[in-house]
Amino acid sequence: MKAVYIEQHGGPQALTYGDRPDPEVTPGEVLLRVRASALNHLDLNLREGRSYRGTLPRIMGCDIAGEIAAISPDAKTDLQVGDRVILNNRVTCGVCYACRMGWDQNCASTKRLGVDLDGGHAEFLTAPAVNAHKIPDAMPMTEAAALPIALHTAWHCLVTQAQIRPWDDVLIQAAGSGVGSMGIQIAKMMAARVITTAGSQWKLDKAQELGADELINYRETPEFSQRVKELTDGKGVDLIFDCVGADVWEQNLNSLKAGGRLVITGVTSGARAEVDLSLLQSKPLHLMGSGGRSNRTFADMMKVVNHGSLHGIVGKVFPLDGVAEAHQAMDDRDFFGKLVIES
Ligand SMILES: [Zn+2]
Repeated sequence: MKAVYIEQHGGPQALTYGDRPDPEVTPGEVLLRVRASALNHLDLNLREGRSYRGTLPRIMGCDIAGEIAAISPDAKTDLQVGDRVILNNRVTCGVCYACRMGWDQNCASTKRLGVDLDGGHAEFLTAPAVNAHKIPDAMPMTEAAALPIALHTAWHCLVTQAQIRPWDDVLIQAAGSGVGSMGIQIAKMMAARVITTAGSQWKLDKAQELGADELINYRETPEFSQRVKELTDGKGVDLIFDCVGADVWEQNLNSLKAGGRLVITGVTSGARAEVDLSLLQSKPLHLMGSGGRSNRTFADMMKVVNHGSLHGIVGKVFPLDGVAEAHQAMDDRDFFGKLVIES
């Protein structure tokens, strides 16, 4: 089958479009005819060997949508051949203490499709049947591929960790990012008020289409906490959802009201920042990290997707032999939502 894989770490030239052996289902698995897969920042780190150094060669692609092509006879599943699904890319062991207690987000044996296991930039892929979740009949595969990691991350941070409430003023950083665009949708679905940031007007216009109430161009207003205060009667926001990190850390802390919550899921601009500890004393803040995401919250989220309330946001679509170009586009950041590969 055709696939995109790396045999060694490096720049976009390390990505090879070529032939890999057809995968075969092992016990408990389904075989997926992949139709679309999406990119994440994680892919650039994996390709370059910055954060992850597993065995190679590795087929890349962590966000995966397709049709069930075969099911292992012993797989306990209600899925049928032909069902249209997306995959939760976190493969947990199911037998350790954490898994048996329903805390599979803490499974020490977690492996990720597209990182520790072969991923979705391919024509076929095998995965545990339990990781496959049906999508709405009318949802295009490219849209479905944009969902899993970005939506699950935003869901986990806003719903599970920060427990978003309808009366919250919420600041969502990087409206154009995968998690930012999903965060806006979730926050609006929960009836919260959304203030969001982006570096260009066209991205802010898109954010407004998704329902964002207030828009801040961070290039024109780098001291955005002033504007946040103006928009919240001088108080600051109840909740911040951030995937940017160091560049916005200080402004984030200044944007929170007393008792506010900050949940961080990414540090694309850097991971080192200073903290004025006296701030925690004067304004009792709740600073949270994203951490692992559970199978249960993935299922909760898919229920809402199948009700039609949440949608994948596709920034641009590339063919399977265009993954290197897509990696370059990811680095350039001139898109809104997710970059998707068609198989
Ligand atoms: Zn486990």
